[in-house]
Amino acid sequence: MAENKDRWIIEISGAGPAGLAAALAIMHAGGHARVYERRGDVGARFHGDFQGLENWTTKSDVLEELAETGIVPGFEHTPVNEVICFGPGGDIERTVRSQQPLFYLVRRGSEPGTLDYSLKEQALAAGVEIHFGETVRNLPNGGIVTEGPHRADAIAAGYLFETDMANGAYVIVSEQLAPGGYAYLLICNGRATLATCLFDDFHNEHLYLQRSVDFFTDKLGVHMNNARRFGGTGNFALPKTARKRNILYAGEAAGFQDPLFGFGIRFAMLSGAAAGRALLAGDYEQYESFWKRRLRDYHKTAATNRWFYERLGDRGYNKMLKHFPNSRDIRERMRSAYAPRLWKRAWYHLIAARQHTPLLNPHADCDCTWCRCTRHAQPSSA
Ligand SMILES: Cc1cc2nc3c(=O)[nH]c(=O)nc-3n(C[C@H](O)[C@H](O)[C@H](O)COP(=O)(O)OP(=O)(O)OC[C@H]3O[C@@H](n4cnc5c(N)ncnc54)[C@H](O)[C@@H]3O)c2cc1C
Repeated sequence: MAENKDRWIIEISGAGPAGLAAALAIMHAGGHARVYERRGDVGARFHGDFQGLENWTTKSDVLEELAETGIVPGFEHTPVNEVICFGPGGDIERTVRSQQPLFYLVRRGSEPGTLDYSLKEQALAAGVEIHFGETVRNLPNGGIVTEGPHRADAIAAGYLFETDMANGAYVIVSEQLAPGGYAYLLICNGRATLATCLFDDFHNEHLYLQRSVDFFTDKLGVHMNNARRFGGTGNFALPKTARKRNILYAGEAAGFQDPLFGFGIRFAMLSGAAAGRALLAGDYEQYESFWKRRLRDYHKTAATNRWFYERLGDRGYNKMLKHFPNSRDIRERMRSAYAPRLWKRAWYHLIAARQHTPLLNPHADCDCTWCRCTRHAQPSSA
């Protein structure tokens, strides 16, 4: 916390969903928050691309859960209840449906209507100070680090464009288009996002993106008007602790993101809000027990699922899709696949040594927000 005349202000590094959710939670609980954002605006890491706010890991709706943390869905959020899935080569096609939304389509970026813009407006209205264009390197008085990914475990590369195609969500699983991941096309009200999400062979992203464009063009007759390239990285890791001294880590900066398919927005907002509440209460353990209770088992299950998914290859994807029942509610099926299970936890511990190493070094005696820093280990040249 930083002292400012007559009040203590909790400092937050990064104005993404995690940082803004933290700031909102602090203000709603009667505290004061100051957020530093290294870019000129919120959402500047994104370009107006569509992302999915997942709604399958719990029975209750994600928007209700966000409302409990004080976040109002003032952003565009289109429910998606149907996804068309293709197997490698596009021969197998399945339409999966759910009664309740499988996810909500949200836009990321700085423009009105995006998730980021709405969170910024909510934060400013609640009295949060946001300092744009300021990069944080240290938090000597403690605070919350929500700086997003600190390395690339997965990357996405794609195009945004305008189209007159009908709304729809399409996914293809294929090692030729997206090694270890999937390529997707999301269309909503004349705007579209087409991308490949890779978990391997990042150097050939151009090739995989071109193949993804070719596939959707041949299969669905996609015509991209005013196409703009975009891309980004993501990281996931299960930390031993999300605390270093008086600094709490939330969102992707802590590694909190679904390791199976790279959905991170929901966990970013939940962990950010919990970190804000805990820091205001001065109870670091409250945050540690929150994420261990709410996020840890999902992470282990998703990491185990990824281990199996990576071993499927094109033949396995085809088999998986063939056995996808068209009738059963896909949301229920996904919830069951993500539900913490004893055997998945046990499997996770067997494979844990091969999982991504934690981003945090809880033993580092420094106030740096970049956790792997060795600042204090180096002799001072001053
Ligand atoms: C192309 C792409 C597609 C994705 N699709 C989905 C999806 O469909 N569904 C989903 O749930 N997730 C998706 N994700 C992941 C999701 O975007 C992230 O998990 C989520 O944004 C994480 O939120 P965050 O607040 O932790 O970090 P971020 O959103 O990355 O925000 C971090 C902020 O901190 C700022 N910052 C960084 N360092 C500093 C510093 N030192 N000082 C000050 N500010 C700093 C950054 O500029 C940034 O604004 C996608 C990611 C990418 C890249």
